[in-house]
Amino acid sequence: MAMDGSPLGAWHDDELHEECGVVALHLPSEADVASLLHLGLFALQHRGQESCGICVASDDQIRIEKDMGLVSEVFTEARLEGLRFDGARTGIAHTRYSTTGSSLRFNAQPITVRSNKGLLALAHNGNFTNAKSMRARMLDEGAVFQTTNDSEVMINLIARYSHLDLRDATAQVMGELEGGFAVVLMDRHRILGLRDRNGVRPLVIGHVEGGYVFASEPSALHVMGATFLRDVRPGELVMADDDGLHSFQVLTPEPTPCAFEWIYFARGDSVLDGVEVHAARLRMGEVLAAESPVPADVVVGVPESGLAAAIGYARASGIPFDMGLYKSPYAGRTFIHPNQRLRDQKVKLKLAPTPAVRGKRVVLVDDSIVRGTTSGRIVQLLRDYGATEVHFRVSSPPIRFPCYYGIDTAARKELAAATMTIEEIRQRIGADTLHFLSEPGLAHAIGLNRTCLACFDGRYPAGHPGEEAEKDGLEEDGRAVAEAHA
Ligand code: SF4
Repeated sequence: MAMDGSPLGAWHDDELHEECGVVALHLPSEADVASLLHLGLFALQHRGQESCGICVASDDQIRIEKDMGLVSEVFTEARLEGLRFDGARTGIAHTRYSTTGSSLRFNAQPITVRSNKGLLALAHNGNFTNAKSMRARMLDEGAVFQTTNDSEVMINLIARYSHLDLRDATAQVMGELEGGFAVVLMDRHRILGLRDRNGVRPLVIGHVEGGYVFASEPSALHVMGATFLRDVRPGELVMADDDGLHSFQVLTPEPTPCAFEWIYFARGDSVLDGVEVHAARLRMGEVLAAESPVPADVVVGVPESGLAAAIGYARASGIPFDMGLYKSPYAGRTFIHPNQRLRDQKVKLKLAPTPAVRGKRVVLVDDSIVRGTTSGRIVQLLRDYGATEVHFRVSSPPIRFPCYYGIDTAARKELAAATMTIEEIRQRIGADTLHFLSEPGLAHAIGLNRTCLACFDGRYPAGHPGEEAEKDGLEEDGRAVAEAHA
């Protein structure tokens, strides 16, 4: 899973994909809200590369721009200029990789609706595991939907509580939705941010220019010039308006944040729920070295996501770390046709071995193995370049179950560890030895009491939709709506 940035329309590659990044901002006086949100989105681009959007409001108007593509592609200076206007003080922004709803423009977020609470905009990260049944019920009752993503279910539910104000309606809906999610929403005067009761997806609070910002990761706060205040607590609803920051502990917290945020998804400079991401990745490598020592000459990480664990492995084992793989920074969104030969070429386009591996016994560290096809190609690259042995070390346990909380892990039958033994995977990828970090080793490296480990052990702390058909059903809905829009 070394390579990020799935191109639009390209083959479904051998990687996990994080779903989304969100930002929200409310300031006490007029400011260039669009530019600040734009900066925040740049810092969250790694969380989703398919579409992005920014919504900005003043006391009397609201404007939105969203489209398919990277933040740098969508937000030209002309588009940003259209979001700069007198009195702008409030906004939300979103960058998306789809796991429910098709990868189409009409599914880009934020989504906006006119409701009995005025104009609302919403953006979310994660999945509502009961969205399909909720949506079916609402359709039966006469609701109409313009998108196939489950954010629209939430905003419709909020609007239905016509006798409640925005805060109380949102709190009510928090108790009705299941799954793992972090949400930001706004009207023209305030922003709200919330996490599900398990806090599966991250959301943090910062202070900037006398106002407040909510973001998926602290890295967004830093680039916006904001000071980190704290994480939104699991089950908490926070609201920022002209009177300041207000906290409501709506649901009893049962914290089980996603372990993969520390393994791979979050940026290395982020601190989530009090745990430094980079330090956790170093510890994963250290634990790996203790669990699976092997005589070798050099430790190599698969860039970028395997580097920190490789450094940890090297420190703990005493085997020197070196940059044995060079990653091209420009190949991320190259369109590759789905045939075997060109998939092999794609790995070569992105990764090239360096002389650090020639004639060496290599410990190769990566953060995960999904289908195993990319891992095998990287092992072969090293051998072709002259590595004498390749010992594969993985800084996560084997992924055996799909994620229902906003990560695209592929269907279960496609996961290497769901259908093969560790020895069979070793043979498939062509490594001399193979070891996955143990679940206790991962828990030790992260250091929290509990995290979600469902993709490793199948125990879903925030419930799950029953069958994978739940996911498929939404995708089918997506195709139907896509055809209607075509
Ligand atoms: S199932 Fe895996 S990827 Fe999904 S939230 Fe849990 S730990 Fe994270």
